[in-house]
Amino acid sequence: MRLVLFGAPGSGKGTQGPLLAQRLKIKKISTGDMLREEVAKESPFGLKVKEIIGRGALVPDDLMIAEVEKRIKEPDVANGFILDGFPRSIPQAEGFDGVLKRAGMKLDGAIKLEITKSTLMERLLGRRSCPDCYSVFNVTTNPPKVEGKCDKCGGELVHRPDDKAETVGKRFTVYENATTPLVDYYKQRGLLLMVNADGPVDVVAGRIVSAIDGRPGA
Ligand code: AMP
Repeated sequence: MRLVLFGAPGSGKGTQGPLLAQRLKIKKISTGDMLREEVAKESPFGLKVKEIIGRGALVPDDLMIAEVEKRIKEPDVANGFILDGFPRSIPQAEGFDGVLKRAGMKLDGAIKLEITKSTLMERLLGRRSCPDCYSVFNVTTNPPKVEGKCDKCGGELVHRPDDKAETVGKRFTVYENATTPLVDYYKQRGLLLMVNADGPVDVVAGRIVSAIDGRPGA
């Protein structure tokens, strides 16, 4: 099964993506994690995108499409994937359609996580992320067992620089302008699955499962 997961920053993509991937026995591909890995490695690509990510802007579409085209051809995603954070704009969605066509693949659904702006703000400002295994926590709604430590791998949790108040507002604006048009794009193609993402993690996970139930491969 091949799925796209989208929604505003803080809507729960990083939490729900791995849960769904585990359930469907497919891989989650997060373009944000891919980019942060490149930044951490200080690769030429990482150095190029570091500043863009830091100011909450979007990495150019052609670069992202090329990265995703490479990634979806790797053997570990041959059974399917959930894309978290891509596509993030209409040009990326169009580019991705071309990528899928060239690879002889098709998309089974585009899950949109729906949530109010005030809840998003609360989530992002309280979010703590593990730079080693990419797990996400929240200081109030989903705290780690030991403060500042990842439950899964023991890594030191961080408040992502782009989750701080100064950058969050910018990311919302970018999301509203560039990414919300994807709702109509996928609706017109009969692929849109709207899910209410306001609620406890397990409740939202259940709603996602119901939304994709009946789709081939679910
Ligand atoms: P995320 O972890 O998905 O919130 O992504 C963090 C940052 O990485 C974003 O604010 C963008 O700067 C960049 N990024 C991630 N995915 C994309 C994408 N599909 N297109 C452009 N920029 C992206």
